[in-house]
Amino acid sequence: MVQSAVLGFPRIGPNRELKKATEGYWNGKITVDELFKVGKDLRTQNWKLQKEAGVDIIPSNDFSFYDQVLDLSLLFNVIPDRYTKYDLSPIDTLFAMGRGLQRKATETEKAVDVTALEMVKWFDSNYHYVRPTFSKTTQFKLNGQKPVDEYLEAKELGIQTRPVLLGPVSYLFLGKADKDSLDLEPLSLLEQLLPLYTEILSKLAAAGATEVQIDEPVLVLDLPANAQAAIKKAYTYFGEQSNLPKITLATYFGTVVPNLDAIKGLPVAALHVDFVRAPEQFDDIVAAIGDKQTLSVGIVDGRNIWKNDFKKSSAIVNKAIEKLGAERVVVATSSSLLHTPVDLNNETKLDAEIKGFFSFATQKLDEVVVITKNVSGQDVAAALEANAKSVESRGKSKFIHDSAVKARVASIDEKMSTRAVPFEQRLPEQQKVFNLPLFPTTTIGSFPQTKDIRINRNKFNKGAISAEEYEKFINSEIEKVIRFQEEIGLDVLVHGEPERNDMVQYFGEQINGYAFTVNGWVQSYGSRYVRPPIIVGDLSRPKAMSVKESVYAQSITSKPVKGMLTGPITCLRWSFPRDDVDQKTQAMQLALALRDEVNDLEAAGIKVIQVDEPALREGLPLREGAERSAYYTWAAEAFRVATSGVANKTQIHSHFCYSDLDPNHIKALDADVVSIEFSKKDDANYIAEFKNYPNHIGLGLFDIHSPRIPSKDEFIAKISTILKSYPAEKFWVNPDCGLKTRGWEETRLSLTHMVEAAKYFREQY
Ligand code: GLN
Ligand code: ZN
Repeated sequence: MVQSAVLGFPRIGPNRELKKATEGYWNGKITVDELFKVGKDLRTQNWKLQKEAGVDIIPSNDFSFYDQVLDLSLLFNVIPDRYTKYDLSPIDTLFAMGRGLQRKATETEKAVDVTALEMVKWFDSNYHYVRPTFSKTTQFKLNGQKPVDEYLEAKELGIQTRPVLLGPVSYLFLGKADKDSLDLEPLSLLEQLLPLYTEILSKLAAAGATEVQIDEPVLVLDLPANAQAAIKKAYTYFGEQSNLPKITLATYFGTVVPNLDAIKGLPVAALHVDFVRAPEQFDDIVAAIGDKQTLSVGIVDGRNIWKNDFKKSSAIVNKAIEKLGAERVVVATSSSLLHTPVDLNNETKLDAEIKGFFSFATQKLDEVVVITKNVSGQDVAAALEANAKSVESRGKSKFIHDSAVKARVASIDEKMSTRAVPFEQRLPEQQKVFNLPLFPTTTIGSFPQTKDIRINRNKFNKGAISAEEYEKFINSEIEKVIRFQEEIGLDVLVHGEPERNDMVQYFGEQINGYAFTVNGWVQSYGSRYVRPPIIVGDLSRPKAMSVKESVYAQSITSKPVKGMLTGPITCLRWSFPRDDVDQKTQAMQLALALRDEVNDLEAAGIKVIQVDEPALREGLPLREGAERSAYYTWAAEAFRVATSGVANKTQIHSHFCYSDLDPNHIKALDADVVSIEFSKKDDANYIAEFKNYPNHIGLGLFDIHSPRIPSKDEFIAKISTILKSYPAEKFWVNPDCGLKTRGWEETRLSLTHMVEAAKYFREQY
């Protein structure tokens, strides 16, 4: 019998229950027991939902209060010493590692001051994991038994689950050496780690688990030989142990074919492969799979929201059944459903036709089940027919095609994507306009999104206040931010982005061709969730999107105010993209819409325009090769199409975060000034990479994801380090990213210290 499987389900809850609970706990509004109760309720709800949908293989241990990779670090005691000296409880240790902790001493508790671990994008998604950070002093041992506890919790509800664990090779490979142990190669720790996996797997088996899902997503990367060898070693080792649950080795987000040698013949019961992202690997996989191994066919997209095409998917599964037999085939989601919103039924405002195009995590459960039934010869004729109709109607929908947009994309030429003169000639013209001091200070754009801002936005959206009243409110917020920046002496100001719910959604809502959800939240990191807009059809901008606020901000100050836009790649990457046209086409459509906006800002008197591209790196295809080199070219071209319509004296900024960026790619954007997330890098090699960056650069000096306040001396120390390899003339002073998630208190102090440090260096030079 063909079985259905889900690799993971969103843990945030249908109404963001997890966010409310974790933030409530951090703010002291709920107790730890109340927090745990919310976690338990969410898990229960998810298991029951999957059980009721008829899913055969249901995951457990896919839940996390912060991040599943961080959970493993806690489980294996990969906890740098700086987090252990305060006697924090396990959950507080987890949160301290995830987001940093700064707390004054009380009668019962010591003062705490510790920064967060590095956070990195999960493959090419917008999910961020907390990077395992190993030191020579790391003492591997089991801390608790979360996977077993959650397995037992489900079992108690009468639900048999398949626990999920990130595999040892991915866990090590995605980690890094701590700054006290820079020459440590994480993969060299494999031998110490394997017994711990065995221990937890044995415990799972003893508790009654018959199967486990071990994720090795690194198998879709270009793996160096030592990592391939580590895969062989790890799974051979597990094969030698007795009484472990059966292992499904899961891969996703790409093809595993280049690493087939490492996987072939491993003693695992099943292999899961992503045929949504990489259908071309089918024949190679079927040929390589062992005669007793099961193939888990990832066919329901865990990364996008388009309704599955049952006919197409069933054909692929049937092909697998033909080759392997029904007993050796599982129908599965392509990856965890973590990257999709929870439930389409919570969408009350979508146009009915458009809503019919989509399928969220809850609907995907039914999709997995229907495909399974279909290939098992059960009668699902009605579901198939409805599905075929829906797929056909999307292709013909009036929401999709706009010939004017297609024609404009076709007309893009070299001139449109090149500034009139090179940077060396633009710079003196810009210096004349701005006359900035050395070490110019700026911020990345957003200021704290206070409760007051959210309340007013909600009121406006509900019609409780008029557009006029709302505008007045926004202007008063802008004024507050401008005055604050003047007061502490920042050089290039921002308007603070109070009008923006989100940096992509805000623009998407003003671009034709986009659709929006009211509740389509997806976890980005920790308690931060995003609601990606959906690109449904050809994209165009009917009118100016951001000019009003920027013009107002500039009208009340004599200092330059940056116009603030989200770049084409980020708009694309942080939306659910179309699956019926390629990404480049969608990026170019966005680039043209943004080009008009950039030009409008300039015409309205805005002299500095920042076009953020934090998602630039994340769009990079996971493997080297033609697709990746093409991306380097078209991503940079899209940015330049958006920004090259301006005069030489208009200064274009860009900003990047959360990635190890390739300096050459940044160079290809030809922005006048770039600001880069840097505060958690602590790595001289990384600074050195930017040494030859020709334009101006601001390496982010503090972590905006943490409430921690760095002192002036800390800033001075950091700047001195960077100055060892980076010239003062090109040096901008700024935080890592926007301040929207911070409170005013810490924002005020951190920025004040930052500006004081810049002034200190001006006196030195
Ligand atoms: N301008 C945006 C902000 O400050 C940039 C955010 C980002 O890079 N993620 O909020
Ligand atoms: Zn950023």
